[in-house]
Amino acid sequence: MKSSILSIVFLKKVDFFDIINWVIIVDVKNIKGVGPKMALSLKKMNINTTDELIHYYPYRYNYYEIKNLSKDLEESSGCISVYKAKVLKDPVVNYIKKNFNRMSFLCESNNLVFKVYIFNRAFQKNNLKVGKEIFLIGKYNVDSNTFLASDIKFVIPDNFIEPVYHVKDKITNTILKKLMGEVDFKNIEGVIPNYLEEKYEFCSESAALKKIHFPHSLEDVKIARKRLVYEELFVFMFKILSFKVQNENASKIGKNINNEEIKKFIEKLPFKLTADQLKAIEDIINDMKSEKRMNRLVIGDVGSGKTIVAVIGILANYLAGYQSAFMAPTEVLALQHFSSIKKLLGNIMNIDILVGSMKKSEKENVIERLANGEIDLIIGTHALIEEKVKIKNLGLVITDEQHRFGVNQRKYLQEKGKSSDCLYLSATPIPRTLALTIYGDLDVSCIKEKPAGRKEIKTKVVPLKDLKEVLKKMYAELKNGHQVFVVSPLINNDDENDEIKSVYVLQDKLNIAFNGKYNISVLHGKLPSNEKQAIMNDFKNGVINILISTTVIEVGVDVENATMMVIFNAERFGLATIHQLRGRVGRNDLECSCYLICNSDILRLKVLEESNDGFYISEKDLEMRREGDFFGTRQSGVMTFKIANIYRDKKTLLYAKNDALDFISSNLYKKYQFYLDTKNNINIID
Ligand code: ADP
Ligand code: MG
Repeated sequence: MKSSILSIVFLKKVDFFDIINWVIIVDVKNIKGVGPKMALSLKKMNINTTDELIHYYPYRYNYYEIKNLSKDLEESSGCISVYKAKVLKDPVVNYIKKNFNRMSFLCESNNLVFKVYIFNRAFQKNNLKVGKEIFLIGKYNVDSNTFLASDIKFVIPDNFIEPVYHVKDKITNTILKKLMGEVDFKNIEGVIPNYLEEKYEFCSESAALKKIHFPHSLEDVKIARKRLVYEELFVFMFKILSFKVQNENASKIGKNINNEEIKKFIEKLPFKLTADQLKAIEDIINDMKSEKRMNRLVIGDVGSGKTIVAVIGILANYLAGYQSAFMAPTEVLALQHFSSIKKLLGNIMNIDILVGSMKKSEKENVIERLANGEIDLIIGTHALIEEKVKIKNLGLVITDEQHRFGVNQRKYLQEKGKSSDCLYLSATPIPRTLALTIYGDLDVSCIKEKPAGRKEIKTKVVPLKDLKEVLKKMYAELKNGHQVFVVSPLINNDDENDEIKSVYVLQDKLNIAFNGKYNISVLHGKLPSNEKQAIMNDFKNGVINILISTTVIEVGVDVENATMMVIFNAERFGLATIHQLRGRVGRNDLECSCYLICNSDILRLKVLEESNDGFYISEKDLEMRREGDFFGTRQSGVMTFKIANIYRDKKTLLYAKNDALDFISSNLYKKYQFYLDTKNNINIID
């Protein structure tokens, strides 16, 4: 009985390629308390349906521990200590400056009477009347007999464990929790075949979802995670391995490539290619000549010179008479590639760009010229995947920074051409063995060797209080005519949390520090594309001295005269991200430096002082991750898993891989009748 239900559910839910979608979609608007405004905010978090809501997982949990306040300070146990207290006097609020206030009031806890301070909580004043019982979170200072609170709570969750979600807009944790409470968790079925469900003794899908959002204990979270992580990785590996089967059977017309032309081009380059680059090029050309579709991944650390390898692939494809498409994860990077590749290939072929924020008329023009074959190379973002983009004679598809894209996207571009070969570039910030598993459907070429003459980027971790030293160094670089990258985690700081400096705050501060002497500009993802392009060009041409940006510059942006990078609030970034960021400098033979300004987390950041090896850094990043952040890999920029973390869940990934392999080669798999249709998608029929 169960298996038939399961198979229906399996059909229903396995929209493995985002193509079949038989799930009964319940719009979030049907949930009690969700009006049009809230629905809009939820949409921004990619929550449109109840199904998406229940799969919006917490990224960590708060564990509370009620303690007695005492004069003997004790070390924290990793839990958040809360102190039950009673308000003795109504609070007084001091408005220090705009959007910055301090509230203080007298309190009693465990027979101690002391003053509590808390910043920017004026709005809580009316809830803090004399006699009110509250829970204080923060630090008690014995010497001054004061308590600096970071939070005041009026209730503590029953089980002292509270999920914390990534939130946006007006959607708070409290709201999310309330919405989850409105959903019926009964009868939700998962997609794990039931023989595997039994083998691992997983709890049911319903139970897992309930536990992940409403745990009674840490044990609950563990049980739920065990199922949900496996499920996500099983589906993932199933897709990857199915691609592999497809790839093995995918044939094309071998390309006729003139090696002499390519040799000539390589000889004319202003630098000598490394042996690894030459080997990768050879692999690519052989694949293109063969009658099997190419599916090749080129892995190489930042700055190893992957772009030129792709450029030569594009040239070969052009010589064979085909069009190429080059997809980058961000507009900034697409624009950068457009300008640098034009320099290399612009006098040989027609090159154009297609990004989301272009004017409609411009886009239409490009789309038309792609369809009639006038454009030989199109560079762009996700905009290239759109249905209306038809490419007449597509022979090669390149995806840059592959680890930033989902698996499904791997297919979409390829489907635009019958003979198209696929090349993926990645500075995969993950250990190699893991890379080989998650890219199990691809052939791999590795570029290990860095171009000759590259100097190590001197990296230094600097506590915020010593910022002056860094400003002096920055001044010295600027005086020498060099340029500086500055990175901040935030565009705007809505929280008015003084600790994090947004890009605009930094712009003001640096203008003051350098007396307005230098041209300082801000770049971030939310600017319109023409503005981005103008800023990038100005920075490239040396008109802008200091470029302050968010991580939009993380991938690929290349400015040779930039010799210094200063990253503010470095504690907010993963090590692998910072390693990618600093790869923006050191693309020349000048001495280059990177300063990591931080408020905490010095030990973890020190890894970057010691090493310049992307693989080593990603492993350390894993080891040193704090217990709290065990969900997902979203932040580290490696593919987007909702709950699995391929570092932490390495073992599960291997089990899922083997199970998916067995599943695909078993009769069971056939029972589900997966078949390859003409569009190269795998469809499932009953
Ligand atoms: P990544 O692998 O991070 O994408 P890029 O392809 O952007 O690196 O290359 C970084 C820089 O190194 C570019 O300016 C490129 O022109 C240059 N470069 C690439 N290969 C070599 C080489 N063999 N010798 C010297 N410079 C090179
Ligand atoms: Mg690159």
